[in-house]
Amino acid sequence: MIRFENVTKRYADGTTAVDNLSFEVAEGELVTLVGPSGCGKTTTMKMVNRLIEPTDGRIYVGGDDISATDPVELRRRIGYVIQQVGLFPHKTVLDNTATVPHLLGVKRAAARARAAELLELVGLDPSVHGGRYPEQLSGGQRQRVGVARALAADPPVLLMDEPFGAVDPVVREHLQNEFLALQKSVRKTVLFVTHDIEEAVRLGDRIAVYGQGTIEQFDAPAAVLGAPATPYVADFVGADRGLKRLSVTPIEPGDLEQPPVVHLDDPLPAELPGWAVVLDREEKLHGWISAEHAATAKGTVGEHARRMEARLPVGASLRQAFATMLQHDAGWIAVTDEDSTGRFLGVLTPARLHEALRRSTAADARDIPRDEVELETVSGR
Ligand code: ADP
Ligand code: MG
Repeated sequence: MIRFENVTKRYADGTTAVDNLSFEVAEGELVTLVGPSGCGKTTTMKMVNRLIEPTDGRIYVGGDDISATDPVELRRRIGYVIQQVGLFPHKTVLDNTATVPHLLGVKRAAARARAAELLELVGLDPSVHGGRYPEQLSGGQRQRVGVARALAADPPVLLMDEPFGAVDPVVREHLQNEFLALQKSVRKTVLFVTHDIEEAVRLGDRIAVYGQGTIEQFDAPAAVLGAPATPYVADFVGADRGLKRLSVTPIEPGDLEQPPVVHLDDPLPAELPGWAVVLDREEKLHGWISAEHAATAKGTVGEHARRMEARLPVGASLRQAFATMLQHDAGWIAVTDEDSTGRFLGVLTPARLHEALRRSTAADARDIPRDEVELETVSGR
């Protein structure tokens, strides 16, 4: 959808901001450009909507060489969100959002109706916030309006240049989560600039890590964290990359341990190795029971089983798994099917979690599926 071919940008003073850059962003993909200040991220982005012209090379959007595309026509296909938002101070939030469709010839009433929909989409109540002026909004709300406005003409491509850079970390995380949910439904092709590796990792389907005007690594977040391509990337992602990686590595069925399982209607088993998971008739997780308890009590499993709070669906991140273990002070967590059946799949222990992380790191480094990795030392069960 967006393709850079050997693109270089040299400014008049001789600064080479972007140096022979080639990369491609697929349709519906969200790519984050991350790197320190001055590495050429904004220059890259502004060349896509022709706010800056490259010195050399070609850029294609939707297959068209943009140097041959009228900039105004081009920008209709590209939403642009920046940190300074750039809302009109004398226009209401609703009118700000309706500006672009209105300019494109949509009738005023229809443009406003569309704007109201978009405000809702970004988590603002049009009846509450629509009539306000930008200065009457919080920083986070203004950024939401910026996103709504960029989406107003329904462009296939979004360029976002540090859009959440000016808000505090808590609001920022909210905005990131909202934007991820939004992106799931609108599926735009997005180039998202940030200097924050956490943000890049959280949002990107793939990440382009910038050095000076060049891309050092262009890869999925887990791969950038698990197998940095250069010492520069390793340094940039930081010493705690293992910890960061937890949040982008999902629990897979192959990571799970299979403990003994008993059912609610079963009589109490006389012997258990430690403990067992208790399931109902539909193989859904009910809880657990300890061997000691089972050996000394009488009746059915159901009468003595304890509830299990520490549980997650498969596909949740290892970070969530770790946090859930800590929250419930649990030595293991139950993992269930992702869909509504909630079928029990197995348990994740700290040792298995560690193994999953090591496996996924090795898998990314060798570009093979995680369950094909043979670890050199397998931690004890
Ligand atoms: P980033 O967005 O990653 O912080 P930029 O793309 O804004 O980086 O800038 C890349 C480099 O180009 C920097 O060294 C910056 O000083 C320089 N630069 C940016 N704009 C201009 C300009 N208009 N004229 C000269 N140099 C510029
Ligand atoms: Mg910049």
